[in-house]
Amino acid sequence: MRLSRYYLPVLKETPSEAQIASHRLMLRAGMIRQEGAGIYAWLPLGFRVLKKIEQIVREEQDRAGAAEMLMPTIQQADLWRESGRYDAYGKEMLRITDRADREMLFGPTNEEMITEIFRAGVRSYKDLPKLLYHIQWKFRDEIRPRFGVMRGREFLMKDSYSFDIDEEAARKSYYKMFVAYLRTFARLGVKAIPMRADTGPIGGDLSHEFIVLAETGESAVFCDKRLVEMDTPKKDVDFDGDLKPIFDQFTSLYAATDEMHDKAEFDNVDAKHQVSARGIEVGHIFFFGDKYSKPMKAVVAGPDGNEIPVQMGSYGVGVSRLMGAIIEAYHDENGCKWPIPVAPYQVGLVNLRTGDEACDAACEKLYAELTSKGVEVLYDDTAGRPGEKFARMDLIGLPYQLVIGPRGLDKGEAEVKNRSTDERETFAIDKVGSVLA
Ligand code: ATP
Ligand code: MG
Ligand code: MG
Ligand code: MG
Repeated sequence: MRLSRYYLPVLKETPSEAQIASHRLMLRAGMIRQEGAGIYAWLPLGFRVLKKIEQIVREEQDRAGAAEMLMPTIQQADLWRESGRYDAYGKEMLRITDRADREMLFGPTNEEMITEIFRAGVRSYKDLPKLLYHIQWKFRDEIRPRFGVMRGREFLMKDSYSFDIDEEAARKSYYKMFVAYLRTFARLGVKAIPMRADTGPIGGDLSHEFIVLAETGESAVFCDKRLVEMDTPKKDVDFDGDLKPIFDQFTSLYAATDEMHDKAEFDNVDAKHQVSARGIEVGHIFFFGDKYSKPMKAVVAGPDGNEIPVQMGSYGVGVSRLMGAIIEAYHDENGCKWPIPVAPYQVGLVNLRTGDEACDAACEKLYAELTSKGVEVLYDDTAGRPGEKFARMDLIGLPYQLVIGPRGLDKGEAEVKNRSTDERETFAIDKVGSVLA
């Protein structure tokens, strides 16, 4: 992509409404634009990151054996009356009426709808287990939308739902998602610790929140430091095998959110391992048995022919919130420092003297070479002072900056800056393409 054709409205001043680094940087680097309280437009640069996060989440869901689908954002109130949550959900639910005065709502979550879809198509225990997911916009009318996309009102969530014959089988589905989440967050470059959590309005009795430790996090959390150092399950982990040992390993040490905190138990943890910190909830998994399947009559015929309500779980990832969490972990005073897997582009090609024949030719050649090799390049082909170009590149935080200027070119050289370390290295102009590809 050529910057001259792109839409990258960077801000010089720090927006005063933004209290935390990720919110400030997303606004300043032209990634999002606020369109209402807690409602954001995703501008081209931010949208690329969002899509990359979404794709990693998707790949790990698919690896775990979940099937992707897509449910609508607008739901019927009657569906929520079946579970009893229409009245219980309260003001966080955005309620709408259509022209025929039918009560509708913008979905804050999808337990009811997926249960309706499931019961329409599954009859026998032989059809189980089922594990379904979608990645869809949600709306929650939060009292205090803040911190940008961290607590939006409209936000992107991946939510999965499992259906099993009994609790033992349902636990296996729960472990699958638990392991898939460990892998997902590790691939995104964040260390998310599974913590014992309250089940809240979703209900149920087994639940973990995945928490990224960060000073700006909204939750108070308590855990054993050794959890941070545990190895992530490998790519070839067998999702059809026994995952309980991994679950047991990650739940063997103390980790709880504020609501579930047990001070006496925490005090037993060796003081040198105790971490009492703040964290960002990036994922949340629940097992809730027949809480929805019973009132909504999502039943299957068991081996003896009797109908039994299925055992369900639900599993959410805050896809858009993750973007804020990643920036909180990877930035400095000059801007973002994207980890490669989620970077909007890998390379920022900086032409220090646009209009100079030699600089333009060298940049065009490198741009063509890198793009043809599949490297995602944002080429700054604009007129502008070098200082301005460097500052903008630092702000948007692409992993590598490839800098071409007249002085270097005279010596047959180009400079590469690694944004994560801010170290610079000089390469021969005809070699630099292969260094970055
Ligand atoms: P929170 O405690 O932050 O309000 P929650 O417990 O209400 O979140 P869940 O119902 O567990 O949220 O939803 C699953 C995931 O969706 C959360 O773990 C979080 O990552 C994300 N999420 C929830 N609310 C928001 C929001 N307002 N903005 C962005 N992401 C959100
Ligand atoms: Mg909430
Ligand atoms: Mg919560
Ligand atoms: Mg939650």
